[in-house]
Amino acid sequence: MTNKQTAIKIIRILHKNGFQALLAGGCVRDMLLGKRAKDYDVATDARPEQIIKLFKRTLEVGAKFGVVIVLFEKQQFEVATFRTESGYYDGRHPSKVEFANPVEDAARRDFTVNGMFYDTAQEKVIDYVKGRADLKKRVIRTIGDPAARFGEDYLRMLRAIRFATQLEFKIEPKTWAAVCKWSNKIKHISGERICTELEGILANPNRSTGAECLVQSGLAEAIFGLDRKEAKVGIKVLESLPEKVDFPLALAGFLAGCKTGHSLEKLRVLKLSRRAVKHIKFLLENRDRLLDDKMSLAKLKLFLSEPYFYDLFEFQKAIQKVQGRDTIALSGLRKRIKALGDVELKPKPLLNGHELIKLGAVPGPSLGQLAQEMYIAQLEGDIKTKPHTKKWVQKWLENHRSTGK
Ligand code: ATP
Ligand code: MG
Repeated sequence: MTNKQTAIKIIRILHKNGFQALLAGGCVRDMLLGKRAKDYDVATDARPEQIIKLFKRTLEVGAKFGVVIVLFEKQQFEVATFRTESGYYDGRHPSKVEFANPVEDAARRDFTVNGMFYDTAQEKVIDYVKGRADLKKRVIRTIGDPAARFGEDYLRMLRAIRFATQLEFKIEPKTWAAVCKWSNKIKHISGERICTELEGILANPNRSTGAECLVQSGLAEAIFGLDRKEAKVGIKVLESLPEKVDFPLALAGFLAGCKTGHSLEKLRVLKLSRRAVKHIKFLLENRDRLLDDKMSLAKLKLFLSEPYFYDLFEFQKAIQKVQGRDTIALSGLRKRIKALGDVELKPKPLLNGHELIKLGAVPGPSLGQLAQEMYIAQLEGDIKTKPHTKKWVQKWLENHRSTGK
């Protein structure tokens, strides 16, 4: 059963109980575009407490604002009461939510293409905001005056670019002019919300067009302090990346025109997860290291065993292309990697600490140094068996005793 069919079941239950219920927002847009929707949201005149009574398993995360999550057939659906939102004093969230009719509910939504409903019983689109016309024209236009709508929630400026990027639509001129005029206000929005929309833009194959909009509008400067020159490099790197990339690689690409320390500082506003920061840091800090054609085998193996190695390779390839440099060093590296076959990249050390001490190593810094050098010799393929390693260690100890180091 698809999630659309399950959403229709939820709607039927609401209908049977005398409520009005419609599919709403993004899923209607995607249905009209012939695309599979990410999720199917339901809008209804049932109040949150009535929705909760009708379904066995619900989450009241946003019940106060008229949104209930219904868990149905192992899927989650947002079932929201028709509402108006008002009193946006801070450009972030409404201070007042009132239950309303579908016309008003459509009017509170951000863009015309996102403001339609679908009546599943009659199989009819309900369009109070001329969304269908804009879908045909392939434009993103705010519902109502753009400056006023962005003033309610400045995140909508980023959302406009996100939808234009994902749907390959143009932003309608007045809407676009308002994004450019108010871009600096994005600073009022939390890093987490910005991050979600940025991911939608930069992880999309159409990312370089989206990035261009971020730069042209002034949003890139407001969010990251990126100047035009830095941004230009970033856009070109994004153009040169493979079509499918993860958000951290795309973000590293967008910031490739800045110094690493500067980029990492700029990223802090986004409140990324620790893992994402680690990922991006690895990419930014290690760029150009892959170009060392004399990289030792041990170093290469350790590099290869890094979880983000292949992203680093793609990142470097894109940088090479942008800088008009050849990719010979990278092709050489690829050949070396291929030649390694399925060799274990990070094998267990041939001897452990106890065994090294038994052979005469003294606990302390010199033991650490010995263990490290032994491991490098192992990765280089200079030592392969335990007996051979023992001999190698004894020799190492003798040398270090005689030199007193
Ligand atoms: P996607 O398919 O990417 O999820 P979507 O259109 O479903 O796109 P969501 O962010 O999931 O977008 O939001 C669902 C709907 O809620 C939107 O289509 C829009 O009608 C409304 N909406 C969401 N965020 C806002 C906002 N900040 N301001 C006004 N309306 C919004
Ligand atoms: Mg959605």
